[in-house]
Amino acid sequence: MLEFKVNCVQLAARASTKQEAIAQVAELLARNGFVEPAYAASMQAREAQADTYLGHGISIPHGLPGDRHQIQATGLAVLQLPEGVPWGEEKSRLVVGIAARGDEHLDILARLTGLLQQGALLERLATTTDANEIVAALNGTSVGSTSDKALILDDALRTVAVVAPAHGLHARPSTAIATLSRGFQAKIRLGYKGRLVDAKSMASLLSLGAPHGASVEILAQGPDAQAALDALRTLVETPEADEAPKNTVRHDWQPEAQSFSLAGVATSPGLAVARIRHIAAPVDVLTESVIAQGSSQQEAARFATALETSKSQLQELHRQVSTRTDAATAQIFLAHQELMEEAELRERTETLIRSGAAATAAWMQAVEELAASLGTSGNALTAGRVADVRDIGNRLLANLSGSMTVATLGESLEPVLLVTRDLTPSQTAALDPQRVAGFCTVEGGATSHVAVLARSLGIPAVTGADEAILSLPEGALVILDADAGRLHPNPSPSEVESALAAHQRLLKNLDQAWQERFEPTLTRDGHRIETVANITGLEGAEKVAESGGEGVGLLRSEFLFLGRDQAPSEEEQYEAYRAMLRALGGLPMVLRTLDIGGDKNAPYIKVPHEENPFLGVRGIRLCLRQPELLRPQLRAAYRASVEGPVRIMFPMVTSIGEFRAARALAEEVRQEVGVPPVPLGVMIEVPAAALLADVLAREADFFSIGTNDLTQYVLAMDRGNAQLAREAQGMHPAVLRMIALTVEAAHRHGKWVGVCGGLAGELSGAALLTGLGVDELSMALPDIARVKSHLRGLCHEDLKSLARRALECEDAEAVQALLSDPEKSNSNALARSPAL
Ligand code: PEP
Ligand code: MG
Repeated sequence: MLEFKVNCVQLAARASTKQEAIAQVAELLARNGFVEPAYAASMQAREAQADTYLGHGISIPHGLPGDRHQIQATGLAVLQLPEGVPWGEEKSRLVVGIAARGDEHLDILARLTGLLQQGALLERLATTTDANEIVAALNGTSVGSTSDKALILDDALRTVAVVAPAHGLHARPSTAIATLSRGFQAKIRLGYKGRLVDAKSMASLLSLGAPHGASVEILAQGPDAQAALDALRTLVETPEADEAPKNTVRHDWQPEAQSFSLAGVATSPGLAVARIRHIAAPVDVLTESVIAQGSSQQEAARFATALETSKSQLQELHRQVSTRTDAATAQIFLAHQELMEEAELRERTETLIRSGAAATAAWMQAVEELAASLGTSGNALTAGRVADVRDIGNRLLANLSGSMTVATLGESLEPVLLVTRDLTPSQTAALDPQRVAGFCTVEGGATSHVAVLARSLGIPAVTGADEAILSLPEGALVILDADAGRLHPNPSPSEVESALAAHQRLLKNLDQAWQERFEPTLTRDGHRIETVANITGLEGAEKVAESGGEGVGLLRSEFLFLGRDQAPSEEEQYEAYRAMLRALGGLPMVLRTLDIGGDKNAPYIKVPHEENPFLGVRGIRLCLRQPELLRPQLRAAYRASVEGPVRIMFPMVTSIGEFRAARALAEEVRQEVGVPPVPLGVMIEVPAAALLADVLAREADFFSIGTNDLTQYVLAMDRGNAQLAREAQGMHPAVLRMIALTVEAAHRHGKWVGVCGGLAGELSGAALLTGLGVDELSMALPDIARVKSHLRGLCHEDLKSLARRALECEDAEAVQALLSDPEKSNSNALARSPAL
């Protein structure tokens, strides 16, 4: 338990404004080693947001949650102002500055609330010349703040009750208990953590500070003592009426027992009830149009027109997608435009047309030749571009043949469920959520660009489904349960009815989540989680606040380096970071240094050929070998840091040596630039870093867990391999144990932990991570409102016990089963929880 010390008290202080008082108490906190001096600004900012006057001449200023990194240890400091300082409409005489990393200060706060009812003691504390009196009052050792002798009941009947209300014994339950108690003749007391209070006084009950799940003792003495104990125990153990689990943003549809379904990978959540629409595969279009329709000149002209149409479509798509999602996603379409302009492709097509081929056949042959040469290059990065080449191939083909494409779906009157072998990113981006109720494909996985796009458009999607979906009859009414990754091809009429109703409820809850997106993420029992955004550039930064984000947990800075011929200069990077910080208007931003290698590459960054690029020179390994890349980036970051709160984090760190080398370079650069230090963090993405988290936590200021990479490296499953998509799950207990180790090590060293991998943006993932003790969740912008709303419907205590059980599961399926139905998994503790 936190103990309050005498050197944390400043007697006989004077201040003419509350800002002055806050500055003094912040200084006192800093002097006692609780906070960095910069925390003063955070306390002022917090006060500007909401007044911290508690009542009866006491104020409790504290900083913004996002500035917790400036707290070195949890502690309190008291400024005594005998003459008082104006605090809004009131006057404050005891200003209690709080620096809280965890919950250790809550006992003292409970005691402060207790003091509010003791006018005489308060008056003494506001004027005393002995700091020890204040210390004794806050530590609960002074006469008057401990249990009064008169409260002790000899020969009382006793029982113990567990506090059920989600927010503990706050005002409403305390009033109810006091009112009920007053109806009995017996003297009644409630005891918690060694303190006894009169149960007939609401204020005394409040001062106990008993949280949800606390065991409180009830004592009664008098003629109706037994009846009083029984009634009070029932009341303390009853959740408040409006605490019934609320509907969350997860749909609640359940198929009937006999319902037949086809399984795939849950790719974008939601529920769809719609008729099937198959899209013709490009190969079918091709076989129908291999014969040249006109002369070579006419075919060449057709090709030229289709090329122009395709390019302007891509331009428009880029514009649309960047307004709907993030720059990274939109960048795909810039890359596609470049590919469309590839001279090799155009010239090869024109040559084939001159030799008599139809424009369609010539184009697809050129596309396939290019795809084949990339596919056999032996380089995974180049091979990854095959999908892009085929994507632009299909686009131009559709424009040439006027065939059935995603773009023509708009003609349907009612939303359809798209079924096809595969969708390309550009086809997905073109989907109109008003017309496409969902899609189901044979190829693809949960981490692809298609998945990202589907989620950002809010279109339910299942990928990697059974081939049998391709033979389902056109127009058949089906149900897609995208949360479960299942397509129900023959639903009964009652299933259709219940799914439609569940869909309506889901839409309503999603709308509600959006309305409440600016509210903080507090679980039902009051635990706070920071919910921040993953972005790739300025467009994302501009949308953070509007999306309900409380800052940026991951800037994937490499996107500034991709799709160009040379690295951005220091000046260009500086301008970019500065613009992002300005757009964030004071919200914090975690800037991840260049993470090139693996599946991301830039032509001007020389990486020798590697058999396994994901196991090669990537992330910080590359930057330490090529400091000429990292140095300008760090200079730009430090220069921009005067614009707003920046934290710098290094990707793919595997050893403390790497972190030290990166930190040394950063420190050298910082001194050159001449700015104050910023927190330096480590991404936990490889098993070595998780296993040695306690070593890293001694020196790093914070951690951010990249579950995408951590999953691939823990399970040895390539994150881009569609065949492994169903197995490469962040919910695997092996991955969860790595996360638990990391959180435990970080907290032991007083450091905070975020998660910026995909798991943080999934509803169940976010819930489980909260239970594992993660402090911050960073996710794609469109996920923020949903995740916030989902967590608000859950209890932290339940999530903690859920996480403990998940860590004991034998495989990922067992974790999934636990998450989807905690009650069936034999836990009384979870009986109140909705499916998580
Ligand atoms: C991760 O690996 O989880 C992560 C956030 O980084 P990226 O996806 O950019 O590799
Ligand atoms: Mg990563």
